Amino acid sequence: MSAKHILLLPGDGIGQEVVKEAEKVIAWFNQNRGTQFTTSKAYIGGTAYDKTGTPLPQETLDAAHKADAVLLGAVGGTQWESLDYSLRPERGLLGIRKALGLFANIRPAMCFDALADASSLKRDIIAGLDIVIVRELTGDVYFGTPRGVETLPDGTRKGINTMVYTSPEVHRIARIAFELAEKRNKKVCSVDKANVLECTEMWREEVKKIRDAEYPDIALSNMYVDNAAMQLVRNPKQFDVMVTGNIFGDILSDCAAMLTGSLGMLPSASLGAKDKNGKIPALYEPVHGSAPDIAGKNIANPIATILSFAMMLRYSFDLNKDAESLEKAVTGVLAQGLRTADIMQEGAQKVSTTAMGDAILKTLSDLNKQQKVA
Ligand code: NAD
Repeated sequence: MSAKHILLLPGDGIGQEVVKEAEKVIAWFNQNRGTQFTTSKAYIGGTAYDKTGTPLPQETLDAAHKADAVLLGAVGGTQWESLDYSLRPERGLLGIRKALGLFANIRPAMCFDALADASSLKRDIIAGLDIVIVRELTGDVYFGTPRGVETLPDGTRKGINTMVYTSPEVHRIARIAFELAEKRNKKVCSVDKANVLECTEMWREEVKKIRDAEYPDIALSNMYVDNAAMQLVRNPKQFDVMVTGNIFGDILSDCAAMLTGSLGMLPSASLGAKDKNGKIPALYEPVHGSAPDIAGKNIANPIATILSFAMMLRYSFDLNKDAESLEKAVTGVLAQGLRTADIMQEGAQKVSTTAMGDAILKTLSDLNKQQKVA
């Protein structure tokens, strides 16, 4: 593999702590697996505002455009809550997503066996779960016009939002889902409400066109969103990749996330369109925020960020085996009974952020030795 550059954006609060642990993992891969990752850091969020007066400095944007992939911690904190909306840390995050043209959000929902009993669902429904939800990020009722609230002549108020998709928007998100399915179990379920919303009827037809023309080996099914919500909690293991629009994805991905328990375990990726050099803009980040309540205490769970790096290995660098090793190391550490406070269970051993990172590195090294012997 040629040298690849990763931009690290630790951000605020526990973002600083969890990205440090991911940095240790990146160094481990360079030392032990022959990768040639280089890294640099830039400011984003409240920390960027304090240093430069803006939550998204131009240098950060320039560095993000140049990097092969970006790993972000989290942004936000109570000390920045009284700032004007345009200067708040969260604007940095929305700004970088927009600047990189990230239109696809990918959230895996994976259940680690050792944590299956922590789910609100029964163990047999959840154990071994490994699904991915692909959500379109830049269209739909969140951005469609006309929108707004008006008062009618008779004094009643009317609120309007408009669901809009164009066929190119559907095609590009469908391709992301089919490409992911190619690397997994070759099944895509497209979620819509085609029985009542014309916009999503068009979505369903266009997804099928792309499958028929470009991915004939992928099994495509369709499901109405109400049924999909039900199936996610009834029998989530029937899915491999789900693809859906912005609003349905917003709701379904949170539902799927909670199938597996703690916020500290959930990675995500946001991808853009391939440029003329074949590079896909990509930002990887844990689903959780900056957790001001526990920041600076060395107790945050770094696993969501480390698993976000595993997603980077798989989706940006095509290093499937390395991604699998890293996920196996996380599974191994959990099986050894090590837990950060957020996932603590009776009989387990509570460890700090840094100790969790170290344990994952040690397990990676053990797995690496076993693979060499085999
Ligand atoms: P949060 O995700 O930061 O925290 C929610 C709860 O989960 C807290 O009790 C926290 O301690 C716990 N938690 C979160 N991540 C954890 C981890 N890795 N290990 C252990 N416990 C963890 O959400 P919030 O409290 O609603 O928001 C706090 C700040 O984060 C706000 O400023 C918000 O705007 C921001 N935020 C940022 C992002 C992001 O950067 N992507 C996402 C959500 C919220």
